[in-house]
Amino acid sequence: MSRYSIFTKKLTSKVVVMNKSRQKEILQFISNLYSSDNPVPLHAPRFLGNEKKYLNECIDSTFVSYVGQFVTDFENHICQVTGAKHAVAMVNGTAALHMSLLAAGVKPGDEVITQALTFAATAAGIKHAGAEPSFVDVDKDTLGMSPESLKAYLETYAIRKVDGIYNKANVRKISAVLPMHTFGHPVRLNEILSICGEYGIQVIEDSAESLGSLYDGRHTGVFGTVGILSFNGNKPVTTGGGGMVITNDDRIAERVRYISTTAKRIHRWEFFHDEVGYNLRLPNVNAAIGCAQMEYFDKTIANKRETAMQYKAFFDSIGIPFVTEPKLCRSNYWLNAIVLKDRGEREEFLQYTNDNGVQTRPIWTIMSKLPPYERCSRVAVPNSEWLEDRVVNIPSGVRL
Ligand SMILES: *Cc1c(COP(=O)(O)O)cnc(C)c1O
Repeated sequence: MSRYSIFTKKLTSKVVVMNKSRQKEILQFISNLYSSDNPVPLHAPRFLGNEKKYLNECIDSTFVSYVGQFVTDFENHICQVTGAKHAVAMVNGTAALHMSLLAAGVKPGDEVITQALTFAATAAGIKHAGAEPSFVDVDKDTLGMSPESLKAYLETYAIRKVDGIYNKANVRKISAVLPMHTFGHPVRLNEILSICGEYGIQVIEDSAESLGSLYDGRHTGVFGTVGILSFNGNKPVTTGGGGMVITNDDRIAERVRYISTTAKRIHRWEFFHDEVGYNLRLPNVNAAIGCAQMEYFDKTIANKRETAMQYKAFFDSIGIPFVTEPKLCRSNYWLNAIVLKDRGEREEFLQYTNDNGVQTRPIWTIMSKLPPYERCSRVAVPNSEWLEDRVVNIPSGVRL
């Protein structure tokens, strides 16, 4: 009962809520911005190019499974945009995370440090690889992994052994640090990489939300050993469902490709699999949609950024904090976010907007409050708790 009390807690009458006219003003602004959509969804996909044409070509060719030219072309599009040497298309972002961790040498029983405030797929991907997530806090401005909290975690738990860094409390090997770029806003990668460098722990980026986001002039997802992308229906580029592993490491790319394609040795007809493989490659049908979407990717990102600037001007004028790109960064503004006064105001706002045809969503419940992750190792996460109470996503779809 108490475990789920966050969902049932009654609002106390002491809470000062946003007044009704302010709520109405925001609703009006969003409705005008998305005047063609009624109701206004949080992030509906848009198909504005060659999607149908390529789907027809794909079906006519009969190459609909993961063997096909659209898969290769889509991977090349992603290499071009991200600057990654390799891109391997997967059925979804969660599978991409799972395969990345395995290929990067994360072993069953290992620990992988991630942030407490993230989408559940980050933690699930770690679990799928047989490892155990542990949680550090996020920064209030980037909404992603806090280098200071990571440092505090390692100072508390890390112990060096001959084959790497271990958590001295649970005796698990800490085999990766996995930051996530929340809503497309890059985390402080330089600081995180430098801390991990000192300890000799690799960085793996969950860049599922940050296709098109740059940190210090370089695309997110290629700073660590390996990174992942998602092309789910609500992401800036969609293939219906889909994901991608991106890396500059030849060995990791080859390994991901191999284990995710049934671990079958290359041969024209023999079925020889030298280990238990997975079947997680993106079908050509889905990649066809992705290829069409990538042809106008620059326009998509420019439009999302332009929407964010309009929001920023509006929320500045009424004194409500709007989340903007961190220093050194260019963000894709996947999901626009505002920071409300407290949990009470958040609940009122969610209720009002969703009742009145504008879809809004709160940021995620922090991982250590979810049943599968309650007992995971962590440090105090005050910023995550603060943001969890206040951050709301507002409609962010492309307006083209
Ligand atoms: C969307 C997302 C994923 C997973 O992607 P799917 O394609 O839905 O499996 C992973 N991590 C984060 C942070 C995401 O937002």
